[in-house]
Amino acid sequence: MEKLLDSLNDVQRAAVQFCDGPSLVIAGAGSGKTRVLTYKIAYLLEQGLPPYYILALTFTNKASREMKSRIAELVGEKRARRLWMGTFHSIFSRILRSEAEAIGFQSNFTIFDTSDSNNLIRLIIKELKLDDKLYRPAGVHGQISRAKNSLITPKMYAANAEILDYDRMSRRPRIFEIYERYQNRLRAANSMDFDDLLVYTNILFRDHPDVLEKYRNQFQYILVDEYQDTNFAQHLIVKQLADAHHRVCVVGDDAQSIYSFRGANIDNILKFKSNYPETQIFKLEQNYRSTQNIVNAANSLIKKNTEQIAKDVFSENEEGEKIEVIQAFSDFEEGLIVANKIARMRLEQHPSYGDFAILYRTNAQSRIFEEALRKKNIPYRIYGGLSFYQRKEIKDIISYFRLIVNRSDEDAFRRIVNYPARGIGDVTVGKISSSAQLHGVSLWKVLSEPLAYNLEVNSGTAKKLTGFYELMSRFMEQNEQLNAYELAQLVVKESGIAKEAYDDMTPEGMSRAQNVQELLSAINEFVDTRLEEGEENLKLVDFLSEVSLLTDQDTDQGSDDEKVTLMTIHSAKGLEFEHVFVVGLEEDLFPSSMAKNEMRGLEEERRLFYVAVTRAKKTCTITWAKSRFRNGQTNMCRQSRFLTDMDERFLSVDGNLEAGSDSSPVAGGFWETMRQERVQSNGASYTPPSRREYADSKKRSSVQSSSSMPLSKEAVGLREGQVIEHERFGRGVVTAIEMDGSNRRAFVDFESAGRKQLLLKFAKFKIV
Ligand code: ATP
Ligand code: MG
Repeated sequence: MEKLLDSLNDVQRAAVQFCDGPSLVIAGAGSGKTRVLTYKIAYLLEQGLPPYYILALTFTNKASREMKSRIAELVGEKRARRLWMGTFHSIFSRILRSEAEAIGFQSNFTIFDTSDSNNLIRLIIKELKLDDKLYRPAGVHGQISRAKNSLITPKMYAANAEILDYDRMSRRPRIFEIYERYQNRLRAANSMDFDDLLVYTNILFRDHPDVLEKYRNQFQYILVDEYQDTNFAQHLIVKQLADAHHRVCVVGDDAQSIYSFRGANIDNILKFKSNYPETQIFKLEQNYRSTQNIVNAANSLIKKNTEQIAKDVFSENEEGEKIEVIQAFSDFEEGLIVANKIARMRLEQHPSYGDFAILYRTNAQSRIFEEALRKKNIPYRIYGGLSFYQRKEIKDIISYFRLIVNRSDEDAFRRIVNYPARGIGDVTVGKISSSAQLHGVSLWKVLSEPLAYNLEVNSGTAKKLTGFYELMSRFMEQNEQLNAYELAQLVVKESGIAKEAYDDMTPEGMSRAQNVQELLSAINEFVDTRLEEGEENLKLVDFLSEVSLLTDQDTDQGSDDEKVTLMTIHSAKGLEFEHVFVVGLEEDLFPSSMAKNEMRGLEEERRLFYVAVTRAKKTCTITWAKSRFRNGQTNMCRQSRFLTDMDERFLSVDGNLEAGSDSSPVAGGFWETMRQERVQSNGASYTPPSRREYADSKKRSSVQSSSSMPLSKEAVGLREGQVIEHERFGRGVVTAIEMDGSNRRAFVDFESAGRKQLLLKFAKFKIV
């Protein structure tokens, strides 16, 4: 025991040993908050508390895996095995499955991910005949999600003047109707979206005191990491569970609250003490992660925020190098600078590639770095973006699984009723759907008893529907006997998906086939691993449950450490790397243009920057570019105000940092004229080429033949100045078009691949 606590400082040790009441550990980045939680759990286990009495909530699945393996190292794997540890969503979906009936669901309910939710919302917007430009599904979903995370029901939403006012101002007065329909449809389909997992847990505990009592008794100790980013729904769950015994320990840092756009409420941490007046507060002040320079620079930055709890964080690690701030000419050059620096550091100091991370504000920035790293043969791993389980072919197969385990799943039904194509058109699906709505039953029910529900289709269509019904019924029967892997193989084969995927010999088709194979391997692995852990007879529903809770932050495949990490700053929370690059420090990108006009928004962006810088252990490099290709055009950029927020003593700057410096000399009248031309021409945007390139292209286009030769189909309509998206080279602007014999050829300046000539007959691209 002594040994366990030896590797903690005095305050950390005190925090670990305080077990008789509520405690709050509030401290700056890298000061050992997560370490306190980890050791506290180990300590409780050593004190003899059975693991299943402990509930530990983390922000990502990755964080919970790491914490679990650390605890296993400390107290032995066997003792750590049955801890209730995971994200809010994974833990409470597990509880909801066993208590589903109490709240009117079946235990096999489907969990909708963001794109499933958006699809359903899109459908409802269409049914209500609303303008989907105004009511953009993702925006409406965001609004509904915020409401749910604050536990605002559709009824409350409709009655709340303030929200309605907001909707009216944004000219979307009918969101609450969409919300209400959406909620009814989810319930009818025995489905929940992500936010519902929290909403229904609250309802479960609120309306069923016996159930609440059961879990209150079970969870004798509750621990929460990253408490500053919990929302109201999460806060209330913890409160309901902890209110009986008050044995709850939460850790967090108000300076790292970065999820308010998802309803996270910094007040939860600030109000913890008023909830539990006997709370013991522990303040950790020593940063063990980073060099003194990094800690000092980060402190000087966060001081610029007005809303925060004052903290003194210091480091006794080496002083370290100053934070290097590098200005690039363009985003393209920014990519090269970062890749070159990684290569150079590797040559000089031999760190592993896994010691490097490139952190950005938005996912879209990743591509530039991917390409630069690829060129230098530097291995990397990218988190987020379109994850494996979001790919179409994977979602289609998963939809088969969903309908097999949950016949009420309307979204899954729609996705696969005609996939692979079996001649069941939209009109037929429309008829099934109207009949289902009329009788208040599921689409599957109508399909299974078409006569009873007056489904009128011609005999050809009826035969096709019967075929689909019989196919699915066979799978449903087999679901009783087969395990997840066996059934998945059967589905892929008999549905015709295998044939479709493997027959397509185009590169896209082949990559689809690989993905299908990958999915089967993943299911196989899932069954095997769980078997090793002693769980037998794993069904598809178990696999689905696991898959639907993967978040962007978790989509790293394998644990290959020899790779540079690319991720958004949001997903980097809680992590640490030897060498960190924080990129894209430009006004309107970071801080983002949406946040910068509002003090609260700006302070949140500054906290985000603080999170980024404090991920670094040894070195931190910050870059920004004077011009950047965004939303289809090149914009001139100004350096971010955050760069001048940091004390210069801790920075090493190439060039000058000027508050509010402007790069307008480069962005002279020429750029303006080019942009106006673009707007006037056809509205399609493109990158204005440099002056020289522009002159060159003029020269070439004057040579261009105005021949009346017939143009190849693909190239008809392609003009100078247009932006294209090429299959291999990505985005580029057409600077000239020439005739070469009977062939038409385009000169294209690609954003990252440089200048290329394309023979239009063969080139694969689309005009954007
Ligand atoms: P963040 O706010 O970024 O989540 P944190 O406060 O949770 O940070 P940890 O991740 O727990 O900080 O700790 C930061 C680093 O410092 C880790 O590598 C951890 O192992 C190390 N560390 C923390 N406390 C000590 C200690 N007493 N002795 C040695 N190393 C420590
Ligand atoms: Mg932490």
